[in-house]
Amino acid sequence: MKYSLAIHGGAGTILPESMTREKEQAYLQGLKDALQIGEQILIKNGSALDAVEAAVKVLEDNPLFNAGRGAVFTHDKTHEMDASIMCGKSITAGAVAGVKNIKNPVSLARKVMEKTEHVMLCGEGAMNFAKLINTEIMPDDYFYSEERYQQLHQALAEDIILLDHYHKTNDKKFGTVGAVALDTNGNLAAATSTGGMTNKKFGRVGDSPIIGAGTYANNAKCAVSCTGHGEYFIKSVVAYDVFCLMEYKQLSLEQACHLVVNTKLKNIGGEGGLIAIDKEGNISMPFNSIGMYRGMLSHNKPLHVAIYK
Ligand code: ASP
Repeated sequence: MKYSLAIHGGAGTILPESMTREKEQAYLQGLKDALQIGEQILIKNGSALDAVEAAVKVLEDNPLFNAGRGAVFTHDKTHEMDASIMCGKSITAGAVAGVKNIKNPVSLARKVMEKTEHVMLCGEGAMNFAKLINTEIMPDDYFYSEERYQQLHQALAEDIILLDHYHKTNDKKFGTVGAVALDTNGNLAAATSTGGMTNKKFGRVGDSPIIGAGTYANNAKCAVSCTGHGEYFIKSVVAYDVFCLMEYKQLSLEQACHLVVNTKLKNIGGEGGLIAIDKEGNISMPFNSIGMYRGMLSHNKPLHVAIYK
């Protein structure tokens, strides 16, 4: 019985010298925790959809990652989160954009997919839906962290919009989280969740909740979850482009992912990476940034986590 799972916790200028050993270990442990929860589902013949949701929830609950609890601050000192999920078997999808105080945006996205006739809900309407179905809502202080608050102050002082951690040396790090899985029934799924960018304004929404840009799954070929500078990923329709290169040009998963991340995105200045899985369970995790928090496992490969190239 074949299964595979891959996750990411964001990409960017993640430099070994700007990390402490403790912090590095904490990130790697966070990735392991998510992979193990996902594997417990896949090993019992659970669905890829359940596995990606569960893995992303673990990362949303971990304050180190820019999603759920660890979401970055907006210009207005709030947290606006985006998330999406897609089932490759039914080609159904759900997404939420600009939601506040939701403990697990990825689960709300799944409810949009399963309980409404829509694909994406945003802002106040999404919040009304969340309340209607009794989604777990957390107080503002659940999402507060001193480090994130300092990031906002830095961004406000410099009047810039930041992609998660940023240092004057032009370090950039995108802390979005995501998962892709193949289950023992041969079904694929993908999910992505983010707090977006520090100091974002005017209801800015990135690629993460946009089906085809930040997330895509289709049993015919692959499942994809992205992380990086969202505006470029939207303009390049990254996740669907990987699918199309496989479907229409018969590229392998590896070839398609490599072309999109290291050539097409790079040519327009789009920094970041993605994780992708095909229906044979092959995994590709390319990134054109210095690092990407990532991990994978499958029925015949042990858990592996990494940060740098
Ligand atoms: N792609 C996300 C966004 O632009 C950011 C990230 O990947 O961390 O909202």
